Amino acid sequence: MTKPPLTLYLAAPRGFCAGVDRAIKIVEMAIQKWGAPVYVRHEIVHNKFVVDALRDQGAVFVEELDDCPDDRPVIFSAHGVPKAVPAAAAKREMIYVDATCPLVSKVHIEAQRHADNGLQMIMIGHEGHPETIGTMGQLPEGEVLLVETVADVATVQVRDPARLAFVTQTTLSVDDTAGIVAALQARFPAIIGPHKEDICYATTNRQEAVKAMAPKCDAMLVVGAPNSSNSRRLVEVGARAGCTYSQLVQRAADIDWRALDGIGSMGITAGASAPEVLINEVIDAFRDRYDVTVEMVETAKEDVEFKVPRVLREPA
Ligand code: SF4
Repeated sequence: MTKPPLTLYLAAPRGFCAGVDRAIKIVEMAIQKWGAPVYVRHEIVHNKFVVDALRDQGAVFVEELDDCPDDRPVIFSAHGVPKAVPAAAAKREMIYVDATCPLVSKVHIEAQRHADNGLQMIMIGHEGHPETIGTMGQLPEGEVLLVETVADVATVQVRDPARLAFVTQTTLSVDDTAGIVAALQARFPAIIGPHKEDICYATTNRQEAVKAMAPKCDAMLVVGAPNSSNSRRLVEVGARAGCTYSQLVQRAADIDWRALDGIGSMGITAGASAPEVLINEVIDAFRDRYDVTVEMVETAKEDVEFKVPRVLREPA
């Protein structure tokens, strides 16, 4: 039977970012250095495939530091942790390695600097996301006010409108965040913030590639996890850029082939925590059913790399 033709647009950049790459390396190098088990507080990155592969190598994933024994190393996930967590590990004299992405740590430092200057902080982020919990946890409880939407900006109660600063989660929608920042600046003209926002290069680049790709596609798939903020934003960006069927899949088995019936063009991208092996699995699933022509939609080149912490570069 002849296969129907399909143009498969592949977004670039897509998939792993430098912070995810570094976090995975940290767990692997810690297991090499100290042997298994090595404990990891929270999923090191939001991807089940990555977590399962590390578990097979000897990582044990837990939600809280209290679930770790004193005598085994513990790693903190790429999303960052409240200050109280490393403090508690130090008090218990544990070996700990912080895999917080350096671009998240930069936001932590910003928040602390503004607080040291006597400014009250507002964070633009998603409630309950580990990065938001980690960034808000850099300052005493209640010191950072969270806003998620433009509507929240209208009701947020601040101490002094003249002494305010804001930070953002790194994996937000660039366009939504611009609207929230504009609303903050309109209500609090004296508010201080980063030049634009704290959204990282990887989130920005992946969203830009989707904006360029989506209008060409009858349908679009984002390879990523349901709890991955940047992956979910890519689905929304795709839909808003004109691709009405924009869906998240964790891997090829999740593809709803019936919904794709009759398509002639397909866009594929992946969130920052999705490994290339899963993207290839999805492409192969299309090759099984269609006569595929792959076209790259490249909007940026990335060469960012982050070093692993010194303790892992030194011999045991
Ligand atoms: S998405 Fe951005 S902030 Fe998050 S780990 Fe990757 S580079 Fe770091």
